[in-house]
Amino acid sequence: MAQVQLRFYEELNDFLPLQRRKITFSHALMRRTSVKDLIESFGVPHTEVEVILANGQSVDFSYIVQDGDRISVYPVFESLDISPLIRLRDKPLRDPCFVIDSNLGQLARYLRLLGFDVVYRNDFTDREVARIASEDKRIVLTRDRALLQHRIITHGYFVRSIRPREQVQEILTRLDLYNTLRPFTRCLRCNGELEDVDKDMVWHQLEPKTKKYYDRFRRCKTCGQAYWRGSHFNRMEKLCEYFKAPQKTVKKLNVVDS
Ligand SMILES: [Zn+2]
Repeated sequence: MAQVQLRFYEELNDFLPLQRRKITFSHALMRRTSVKDLIESFGVPHTEVEVILANGQSVDFSYIVQDGDRISVYPVFESLDISPLIRLRDKPLRDPCFVIDSNLGQLARYLRLLGFDVVYRNDFTDREVARIASEDKRIVLTRDRALLQHRIITHGYFVRSIRPREQVQEILTRLDLYNTLRPFTRCLRCNGELEDVDKDMVWHQLEPKTKKYYDRFRRCKTCGQAYWRGSHFNRMEKLCEYFKAPQKTVKKLNVVDS
């Protein structure tokens, strides 16, 4: 029976049972296995992994684990300086467009509010999410680890927080997206882009009071929904300010983790 030593770094430890966190531990292999399957057998989705070392050398997911290997597994993180090592993907996780799992509707709305390109439906199946992620090169956001184990998903993030506002902060911090916010540029309903329009172009959609008190309008290029600076706008603006202030409570990854 083959024996290997494993060590998971930084936030990958979130997925492990307490006794295996932040230590090197031994594991007996019952059969021939790829390092991808080995990592996922501990509940760590492969989409969370950026670099794998076997005995100090970079390997990819297809590497077949050998007796006596020392395997080190590092998380996805943009600012981690891993230039001497092989990244497991050609394209970094930076491109901020998402497909969001069916039970994270409020998160989807908040991210659209901040201007991110977000595909979401509340009746998505796992298979649909995986297909959209693969075909459109989108990052999957989910709280379902099993979803992230789909082989065709290359970019995914397991959302730790439960509450939607905290989820937004977690994602902005972990993926370092604070410089890419473009609030009020997307339709909250359908993800279409908004454009400025003259009042007469949305006149037929407006309530009498809106017609009377507002003059500046934007409209969704896709579904035609009109937006204006109505009473809910101030609340949304406050929410944006809240999200834009980087949160100190969410931990940023650090390279050193003894
Ligand atoms: Zn729309």
